[in-house]
Amino acid sequence: MPKVVVVGSINMDLVALASRFPEPGETLSGERFATFAGGKGANQAVAARRLGAEVTMVGCVGDDLFGRDLKAGLEREGVDTHHVHTAEGTASGVACITVSGAENHIIVIPGANHRLTVADVEAAEAEIATADVVLTQLEVPLAVVEATASVACRHGVPLILNPAPATALPAELLAKVSYLTPNEHELSIVLDAGDTPFPDMMARLPGQVVMTKGAHGAYHVDAQGAFVHQPGFAVDAVDTTGAGDTFNAAFATYLGEGAAVAMRYACAAAALSVTRLGAQGGMPHADELTAFIK
Ligand code: ATP
Repeated sequence: MPKVVVVGSINMDLVALASRFPEPGETLSGERFATFAGGKGANQAVAARRLGAEVTMVGCVGDDLFGRDLKAGLEREGVDTHHVHTAEGTASGVACITVSGAENHIIVIPGANHRLTVADVEAAEAEIATADVVLTQLEVPLAVVEATASVACRHGVPLILNPAPATALPAELLAKVSYLTPNEHELSIVLDAGDTPFPDMMARLPGQVVMTKGAHGAYHVDAQGAFVHQPGFAVDAVDTTGAGDTFNAAFATYLGEGAAVAMRYACAAAALSVTRLGAQGGMPHADELTAFIK
């Protein structure tokens, strides 16, 4: 059972369904409302746990109803929450999502996620030092991501950085990343590379980039410069929300078997996740993944 430490965001997704979007100033009667646990950090923690990893989450929720609910939800999934902090006087991170037909409008308010500190990461140093892999994203402050990279690097623990939401990243941070897992658009932003074709972008960080490309699967340039393509698994996609999160979690969980094998499991797990509704709702368990990949 690999040990995975996830340093990242924990959000509540608030989803309103309506027949159309309201005009500015208009109050519209909607059709349905639901809440879903989310945040890239929490999603990846839950997905890795379902695949059999031992998972410790380092994150921060608000001192509100959502915060208590989100932390309890992680515990129910079997994620270790000793390093999930509660920020006094701060609201939990939320994503306000309005859906109409196939379109959506989303406002993300980081709230307590931006109260996670470098000191919180340093307090989890013993967990990181004994982990098989550390997984992080960009929904917490960049200083926290940099501290995570430094601690992982100091202990020789592989670090996976899923650079979402994307921003240009400093070379000192990239140098500490074992695997960077963007989609094509995110890779272009991280490297500030404009319309450069993706194989050329990947060649700039040999061995480090595992790029996802929706139904096409994933690509990697290994440390020797060889181009590896893991085709996507053909499935009937119902909802692609959380495909990237499932991919990252599976890649982390199976990384001990080598990057090429981990990419295969990651594509298979993500394909299973898109056949079902919701981010965490669609994430597969280990037995299901093993049966699917055979
Ligand atoms: P999201 O933000 O929607 O979670 P993403 O943009 O981070 O996704 P994608 O490249 O769209 O990431 O998808 C991640 C992985 O999920 C892909 O590498 C692929 O393996 C799998 N995947 C996504 N869409 C499909 C699909 N329609 N059919 C099969 N596999 C898919």
